[in-house]
Amino acid sequence: MRQIFNFSAGPAVLPEEVLQQAASEMLDWQGCGQSVMEMSHRGKEYMSIHAQAEADLRRLMCIPSNSKLLFLQGGATMQFAMIPMNLMRGRASADYVHTGEWSKKAIKEAKLFGKVNIAASAEDRSFTYVPPQASWKLDPDAAYVHLCMNETIGGVEFNREPDAGEAPLVADVSSTFLSRPIDVSRYGLIYGGAQKNIGPAGLTIVIVRDDLIGHAPAGTPTMLDYRQQADNDSMLNTPPTYAIYIAGLVFQWLERQGGVAAIEKRNIEKAQLLYDYLDSTEFYANPVAKADRSRMNVPFTLKDPALDDAFLAGAKARGLLQLKGHRSVGGMRASIYNAMPIEGVRALVDHMREFEKKYG
Ligand SMILES: *Cc1c(COP(=O)(O)O)cnc(C)c1O
Repeated sequence: MRQIFNFSAGPAVLPEEVLQQAASEMLDWQGCGQSVMEMSHRGKEYMSIHAQAEADLRRLMCIPSNSKLLFLQGGATMQFAMIPMNLMRGRASADYVHTGEWSKKAIKEAKLFGKVNIAASAEDRSFTYVPPQASWKLDPDAAYVHLCMNETIGGVEFNREPDAGEAPLVADVSSTFLSRPIDVSRYGLIYGGAQKNIGPAGLTIVIVRDDLIGHAPAGTPTMLDYRQQADNDSMLNTPPTYAIYIAGLVFQWLERQGGVAAIEKRNIEKAQLLYDYLDSTEFYANPVAKADRSRMNVPFTLKDPALDDAFLAGAKARGLLQLKGHRSVGGMRASIYNAMPIEGVRALVDHMREFEKKYG
């Protein structure tokens, strides 16, 4: 057992069981004499790992048969461009819901490819809430409606499934992937980097409905065309084989935990523990509207920022790592993804309580 709890926002904590299994298979994967890292991506061993990971994720998320599952590279950030490139389909504009830093980046990139209509924005209250659905000004001719399901930096999450009306709904789920059930059939496209809740950096997962594939304009680079990627089973070139292997082990781990619905229960319990404590004291604060608080990323500030360094040093001495907030907002941030055990959250709350006693 490791003696630390890692609260990093990403790359982030992975299940210890998965790391143990990867370690035991590092030199020789299932008796074939090679490490997964050394295998040809076209060989039967790796192909079986790849196919298993795909099948397991399709089952975990109940991905309908009319959607393709792609294992790509370039991060969620590459999708900020690939989405408008492939989904504009000759339309004049796309709708974006602006809920914080990651939406902002997606919007900036989309503007390179067409007109962006900000259908709703939480800027008026410093991105501390999700604009209520009734206030969204959706354009009936929009190519699609884009939103960020969980703002990793601001700690704001859609805790209800959004409704985009007629246009395909496109969601960045990077930091909430597999943390809660999601009705994939309601989305045109779902995407996210693996390094928050699924595996190592280097793998990007895209789930895209068949009818949205094949619309990239002439001149689109092959690697950036969903049609090309889908027709070649994400193997136009060498895929990030080791990252896919680890993601596959995480999918199996999640299955053993009881699947997405079971992990959601634990995630609710963990988040509740931390937010209940935050709300019980004036010493710490979280600015997000209660209904829109993220279950995965919990930013909080200390009453006196001059105590931040002492708080972090004390946390580190207890093995509570990577609690420093994002450079753009300061304070603290505890990311409590699927692989964070509840004991980690209890240890954090214990530290917060004792720190408050000492300095409050
Ligand atoms: C981390 C993150 C990204 C960026 O992911 P990369 O894989 O580093 O490109 C985008 N959106 C959200 C919500 C994120 O948390």
